Amino acid sequence: MASNTTSFLKARYAEVEQKIQSACDRVGRNRNEVTLVAVTKTISAEATALLPSLGIIDLGESRPQVLWEKAEALPDNVRWHMIGHLQRNKIDRTLPLVSRIHSVDSMRLLEALDKEATKLSRPVPIFLEINASREPQKHGFAPEELPQLLPKLEEVNGVHVEGLMTMAAFEEDVEKCRPTFASLRELRDRFSQEMPNPHSLHHLSMGMSNDYEVAIEEGSTFIRLGSVLFEGFPEQ
Ligand SMILES: *Cc1c(COP(=O)(O)O)cnc(C)c1O
Repeated sequence: MASNTTSFLKARYAEVEQKIQSACDRVGRNRNEVTLVAVTKTISAEATALLPSLGIIDLGESRPQVLWEKAEALPDNVRWHMIGHLQRNKIDRTLPLVSRIHSVDSMRLLEALDKEATKLSRPVPIFLEINASREPQKHGFAPEELPQLLPKLEEVNGVHVEGLMTMAAFEEDVEKCRPTFASLRELRDRFSQEMPNPHSLHHLSMGMSNDYEVAIEEGSTFIRLGSVLFEGFPEQ
């Protein structure tokens, strides 16, 4: 692939990295508390394969089939993040490939993942997807479902819950996203002491291209960025 592609990516990555650092600085957070997941759903496998050489090895896909294809084409040091809705019949092929699943949106999915994950030699970290903005078209648990869910985790060992994930509604004025992110952090703070072992709510996966700076200010530990890195990409 042409070198202008690499320089495009490098420049975008550097700009975004600076904004991440500034957001961390504004609230006194350490940059290494925030993992940037590059969401590669709009670029080809060839373009995706350029990212590890730029030091970007946390990659996210929202469709299982695409994740399978790219995982096959890319080196093993890539950490794949499943960030979209996962159908139960795709669990067996997806689980061995991923480092984390951000989008566990029902108890049925969680139980099916747990069953399959116990066959692997490692526990798979997952996040519970919360519909914090309460949009009817979105997947995820309602915030008030969380208390009923916690006791059920006592039986769960194959997957480890490590945090919460949400998507804010798109807003021109990103300040309007802040309450959604703050509410996810408050949910985390309220229930993290009640998590049965080995589960925790340490992580907050929140923030996309439009709103990641606000999300970082509100405590995000995983931001999932697509368009801000790849929009206008030379191959498109
Ligand atoms: C596509 C997608 C993203 C990235 O969105 P951008 O606005 O392009 O940064 C993040 N999270 C999820 C779940 C997505 O589906």
